Amino acid sequence: MKSIMRSMTLFSLIFILLFSTACSGPTNDVATTPLRRTELLMGTSITLSLYDHQYPQILDLAFDTIKQLENELSLNKDDTLLLEVNEASGVSPIPVNEALFDIVQKGLSYSALTDGAFDMTIGPIVKLWNIGMPEARVPSQAEIDAALPKIDYTNVSLNETDSTIYLEEAGMALDLGAIAKGYTADVIADLLKAQGVEHALVDLGGNIYTVGTKLDGTPWKVGIQDPFNPRNNIIGHISVSEQSIVTSGIYERFLDTGDATYHHILNPETGYPFDNEIAGVTIISNYSIDGDALSTSVFALGLEEGIEFVTSLEGIDAIFITKDQEVYKTEGLKDNFVLTSDKFKLID
Ligand code: ADP
Ligand code: MG
Repeated sequence: MKSIMRSMTLFSLIFILLFSTACSGPTNDVATTPLRRTELLMGTSITLSLYDHQYPQILDLAFDTIKQLENELSLNKDDTLLLEVNEASGVSPIPVNEALFDIVQKGLSYSALTDGAFDMTIGPIVKLWNIGMPEARVPSQAEIDAALPKIDYTNVSLNETDSTIYLEEAGMALDLGAIAKGYTADVIADLLKAQGVEHALVDLGGNIYTVGTKLDGTPWKVGIQDPFNPRNNIIGHISVSEQSIVTSGIYERFLDTGDATYHHILNPETGYPFDNEIAGVTIISNYSIDGDALSTSVFALGLEEGIEFVTSLEGIDAIFITKDQEVYKTEGLKDNFVLTSDKFKLID
């Protein structure tokens, strides 16, 4: 079986169009070219770009913070706080820090809103498939049948007073893959702003937060990746400032067996990848934790229900690209999204 991985540096469905800004010339604090650093963390390629306050110490601090969060929230490392919670499933509540508590609380609210299509207790099914990892494989039906009863977000109990998380059934496992990068993007954006940075881009493998505007005061232009072509082919762009842009798609992480391809957003009811019209969906929101949870949620809901769901949420917009190369966008993007590829058809 041939497994194809596109997990680490590979294609984030979005990339930023960087237009150089005309200004009177770089000084120590305001330069036309960003101070930029990329590191492989959280299973993806993370790039931070500072357009003002270009001090390497700020990047040191930001990357240290990302590493620390990874050590708390990952399932792919030993001894993380998240593993501790999972290992205590069916046994006892575990005291956790604010980061883990907040993420799980937010995730559970999206589980309720999507009636369980988004479910952070998907861990046992994610582990069977391992999509995006070298050991990825198609599990047997018996394995899936054994894991499915463990998937149920209503069996997660949070105690706010003690700051504990308890997974009520043995064998349950939280997986924060759909939400941890969004949370981290918000933390890093806040950190940069607290350090005085006013113009910056936070890119966690396509999970993007635009701090402020470009140096000249105009909005950032963010390209929406063509899900059917290699990186840097875009279908169009949007203009944003102080916003999060997050994409989920079927071409990000997948397993190809030769007979079929399986992507990484899994149906908690069947244990198999969701199969619907969506090739990629991009969420624009004020907070990246919402964008990340929603990109996965909306993908799970499918096109029609997904559009309805996003439209019902205040301050959230979305761009959907279907497998038929049709593009749908929500009301708030009416005068913003510009389609630049003639291979796609904008549906109004
Ligand atoms: P990416 O991690 O590629 O940016 P997403 O944000 O859409 O993509 O998250 C996908 C990840 O979420 C999966 O790799 C898995 O860890 C987790 N996941 C898969 N299916 C679900 C689901 N139904 N609900 C919640 N999380 C899920
Ligand atoms: Mg997500």
